[in-house]
Amino acid sequence: MYNRPIIQHGPLKMTRPILATIHPEALRQNYSQAKKRAPRSLAFAVIKANGYGHGLMRVADALAMADGFALLEIEQAVYLREQGFKQPILLLEGGFSADELVVCANFDLRPAIHCPEQVQWLETVKLSRPLTVCLKLNTGMNRLGFVAESAGAWAQRLQANSNIANVVLMAHYATADEPDKGIDWQLHRFRDAASGLALPACLANSAAIIDYPDTHADWVRPGIMLYGSSPFAERSACHLGLRPAMTLSSRIIGVQQLASGATVGYGRTFCADQAMRIGVVACGYADGYPRHAPTGTPILVCGQRTRLIGRVSMDMLTVDLTNIPAAAIGSPVELWGGQISVDEVAAAAGTISYELMCAIAPRVPVVVA
Ligand SMILES: *Cc1c(COP(=O)(O)O)cnc(C)c1O
Repeated sequence: MYNRPIIQHGPLKMTRPILATIHPEALRQNYSQAKKRAPRSLAFAVIKANGYGHGLMRVADALAMADGFALLEIEQAVYLREQGFKQPILLLEGGFSADELVVCANFDLRPAIHCPEQVQWLETVKLSRPLTVCLKLNTGMNRLGFVAESAGAWAQRLQANSNIANVVLMAHYATADEPDKGIDWQLHRFRDAASGLALPACLANSAAIIDYPDTHADWVRPGIMLYGSSPFAERSACHLGLRPAMTLSSRIIGVQQLASGATVGYGRTFCADQAMRIGVVACGYADGYPRHAPTGTPILVCGQRTRLIGRVSMDMLTVDLTNIPAAAIGSPVELWGGQISVDEVAAAAGTISYELMCAIAPRVPVVVA
């Protein structure tokens, strides 16, 4: 239901060669890395946004041993329950209506509670059983949550509500991935607000799991690290012991010989300064490859690193084959994966790996390795 159909690539079924391969073993290893770094905490594996583009059920199946899951849409949480997943499921934005809180009770889901309206809904609905809720505090991110300093008052009000069994405090960091900015500015507010409440807490995203062990608390929320990508601009995923959970691959479908002075593609943004050979790859922005990736973005052809040249178009992109004489029609290309880190491609395109992985287009067939 939440996975795209898996297309079989075999000799009798020729299809366009683009392919995303998901590596369940890497997902499991990355999850255990998160657990190793936060050994006294339970972990909600964050599988929002279709498992960061990897497929909700592919990720959930690979991480069936996770302590819990966190996502946004209640239908997907219910689907996990129907598939037999029994662990706690956190709804990161909580219920979007009072009715959803009824569903939370029926399926034993844990909504975040971030605004007074959600508290009022909880005071008026009739639930089949009391809920564990995550009281979301705004410690400076200024996205969702109650002003941190009001934590005590809201916690008291929730604890007085017979629809509520347990309250967990939750907050989110804005700069855990930027060592020069750190998290102290938010952590102080959280600690002041939480002191004396004796409530469990759920605070750390991937960056905080890695860099701020003293904030791990009762539950952590690893997302990007599960997918084998680094939350930090300055440190590689490999250096952090993470393995890529997705390979995006394709093949060369065309070769051109350029004379010196010839240009390539839309806008003529690349001009050959000498005679050269280029390859055309079956992958474009309509597959989810970033259109803003400029000339020089790394790419692998026949196992050799080379560079993207010219503009990425809807269905194709072009690569420099100057030093890859063996490359020909059908040669394998890795857009990102084990050799070309998605983080490198994202950096070249001026974005983050999160966006690239989430943007894998529905037309790209996906297989599980
Ligand atoms: C997405 C998200 C996470 C996971 O963040 P990563 O940087 O991917 O580890 C954790 N907590 C909340 C509230 C989120 O929205």
